[in-house]
Amino acid sequence: MSKELDQLRNRVDELNLQLLSLINERAKLVQEIGKAKETQGVYRYDPVRERKMLDQIKEHNDGPFENSTIEHVFKEIFKAGLELQEDDHRKALLVSRKKKPENTIVELKGERIGDGKPHLVFGPCAVESYEQVATVADAVRGKGLKLLRGGAFKPRTSPYDFQGLGLEGLKILKRIGDEFDLAVISEIVSPADIEVAVDYLDVIQIGARNMQNFELLKAAGAVNKPILLKRGISATIEEFINAAEYIMAQGNGQIILCERGIRTYERATRNTLDISAVPILKQETHLPVLVDVTHSTGRRDLLLPAAKAALAIGADGVMAEVHPDPAVALSDNAQQMDLKQFDEFMNELRSFAFARV
Ligand code: PEP
Ligand code: MN
Repeated sequence: MSKELDQLRNRVDELNLQLLSLINERAKLVQEIGKAKETQGVYRYDPVRERKMLDQIKEHNDGPFENSTIEHVFKEIFKAGLELQEDDHRKALLVSRKKKPENTIVELKGERIGDGKPHLVFGPCAVESYEQVATVADAVRGKGLKLLRGGAFKPRTSPYDFQGLGLEGLKILKRIGDEFDLAVISEIVSPADIEVAVDYLDVIQIGARNMQNFELLKAAGAVNKPILLKRGISATIEEFINAAEYIMAQGNGQIILCERGIRTYERATRNTLDISAVPILKQETHLPVLVDVTHSTGRRDLLLPAAKAALAIGADGVMAEVHPDPAVALSDNAQQMDLKQFDEFMNELRSFAFARV
């Protein structure tokens, strides 16, 4: 009897190993299917296919297991296969270094953002008039810089605050860009305006409040125009990276990330500049990373130290707000630099960065 038991057990052991090898052989096929689905741009679980497989298995089930038991066992195998596909997919986000080891470079008026040198973006919080933007554009160009920002659509906390000049603001930016030979950057808040913005802007900004506006991200991914994506106010780095993936998944790989501070319990600054996000984003993605020192600190006295920290930690550049007369600015008047402060800021930053900026 014990000899017979041993034999039966040996046979079970053999079958275990056969099952193991079959399960893994199946897993390899599932991975291949996953890759094929990825190239077609579909990753989804397919319930119709799963139902067909289960029906076919049950049709051939001669027992002794009940159909419900067999269904349960196979569903676990299917689930494990699906998880394997998802892992493979997750491991290889389009924005990840794993997918593309070399840096993405976004080229704007000869500036190659992501080339290892620091690039600077200045301009008013909001476009208020042609003269106001032109004054700042003149100062920016006077320093040999090429990148100008200015908000035409302003996402304000209060609906009663200045909302921006809208299309009129985009037109002002376009004119200034042409006249001063600058690349102009401005935020778009509605998917319907993305196509329109392409004609006026060199870079479309997606602001912190819209980082997870997925329809806006998809619309931004569908155009052939660089996108500056700001980190959401309460977004984790993973959420930020996935927001960029939304854009890239639609075919637009010209993306610049921007760390702009996150909301924490600290009230000494407007937001908390998550400086360590910069090297993490640089490691995990191939995209250029800027640091917005204005909205992260919300304090004029911290703009320069924060900008130095950003460059020291490996950011591809810095964004800061400059206004001809911040005291009467229609938004963010506490933290925009005036032209004299802008001069000092640039001199200090240039000596800190060995004139590389
Ligand atoms: C801005 O850059 O104009 C802006 C509104 O910033 P954020 O979306 O980061 O708040
Ligand atoms: Mn602002």
